[in-house]
Amino acid sequence: MQHFPVFMAVKGRRIVVSGGGDAALAKLRLLLKTEARIEVYAPEAEPEVEHWAAEGRLSLYRRPIEAADLMGAVLAYGADEDDLLDARLAALATETRVPHNIVDNLEDSAFITPAIVDRDPVVVAIGTEGAAPVLARSIKADLEARLPSSLGLLTRVGRSFRQAAERLPFGRRRREFWAEYYASIGPQAHAKGGEQAVAPALAQLLADHLTASPSKGHVDFVGAGPGDPDLLTVRARRALDGADVVIHDRLVTPAILDLARREALIVDAGKEGFGPSTPQAEIDALIVRHARKGRHVVRLKAGDPTVFGRLDEEVEAVEAAGISFAIVPGITAASAAVAAIGQSLTRRGRNASVRLLTGHDVKGFADHDWKALARPGEVAAIYMGKRSARFVQGRLLMHGCDPETPVTVVENASRPEQRVLVTTVSQMEPMMSEARLDGPALTFIGLAPRAAQAAVRNLAQEAVS
Ligand code: SAH
Repeated sequence: MQHFPVFMAVKGRRIVVSGGGDAALAKLRLLLKTEARIEVYAPEAEPEVEHWAAEGRLSLYRRPIEAADLMGAVLAYGADEDDLLDARLAALATETRVPHNIVDNLEDSAFITPAIVDRDPVVVAIGTEGAAPVLARSIKADLEARLPSSLGLLTRVGRSFRQAAERLPFGRRRREFWAEYYASIGPQAHAKGGEQAVAPALAQLLADHLTASPSKGHVDFVGAGPGDPDLLTVRARRALDGADVVIHDRLVTPAILDLARREALIVDAGKEGFGPSTPQAEIDALIVRHARKGRHVVRLKAGDPTVFGRLDEEVEAVEAAGISFAIVPGITAASAAVAAIGQSLTRRGRNASVRLLTGHDVKGFADHDWKALARPGEVAAIYMGKRSARFVQGRLLMHGCDPETPVTVVENASRPEQRVLVTTVSQMEPMMSEARLDGPALTFIGLAPRAAQAAVRNLAQEAVS
């Protein structure tokens, strides 16, 4: 982001505009929506500007702008449509330290004016860093159509109830009240009875919510997928939107946590406050404790919560506490990793079953039916398989696996740092150790990347070197 959006306090403060032609007119139409004091400096001005001056909506000075005019102003616009005059304004503004905008000149401007959707006090500002004004206009048109014109009025009435609504407990119950007002009760009252019907409807709604029985907590066990926010389910996004508390794994990416409701409490159950790895019993207790306070808890787990996620222990704790819960499935690492290499997990004539294995469990390296796994054509996806690679390799070879059986490791599947390593059972160690895999990695036994194999191999080697 080269420009940071902010909303500036301009009430009663001075905004100066140099120029009185078309460019100035366009900016003035926007500026006149504010409660700032507008001053226009122009030897000649369009009749509309003269008209606004006569109405007292702005002050018009029929002369060029001077440094003294800029002193103490909050913003300055150079709208003379003349390079020399623009450069002069920029110099004066720099000298007097007033942020300036030269109309249609991104490079020489200290700030830019966004496209605006105005439902005062709800204001949406849209910017594209000057790169795509056409896109900004089409986004603006979409939003204009989506935001009801009564929104400004509803918000103003809502604002006058802010204090009264504080009688509802902070969090889910207060949020549900406001959501119902903006989504249904408010617009309905306005449509039926006009402006004066809105406040009584809101008062009634508040009374209803105050007498309703306090809501019980709820826990959603949500799959966050492999890391790319685009691979979240719609239901997962909805759960994140409504969460009071998000308790997440170490593997959940910041881009996904960013989607949680802004006010949500975010708890990292992988580390932080709990030492390097939080004991399972503590996580169970943490979930129950937050839900008991009547909160909507999202327990966010990497991939699919039902795959190597210790889900059952958490579900049992929640059930035992009499708290309602739901499981929202996610895309598991094996699905994302196999997509990355253009293969499928099962294939007619090759393998009619696929195994999801863990490299190690709580007791150490996990044991499996090695004999079955060593058979030609078998496909296995190994989770948490970095440290156990040599153990897996040894067991497979011991049970007669063809040393040339393909092995593919996908690190950081679906993320920008994704890497693919292509090897064989006989080579997987030392190759995997040498590759210094820092991110989560999934190992496929019996699968090589499709077609562009050679290219992928080069990539892997580059990444390793
Ligand atoms: N519930 C998760 C798995 C948790 S176990 C799921 O369904 O994916 C953690 C292991 O998952 C990691 O050690 C790694 O093997 C795998 N994993 C998770 N995210 C991954 C990713 N983006 N790329 C590769 N492997 C990943």
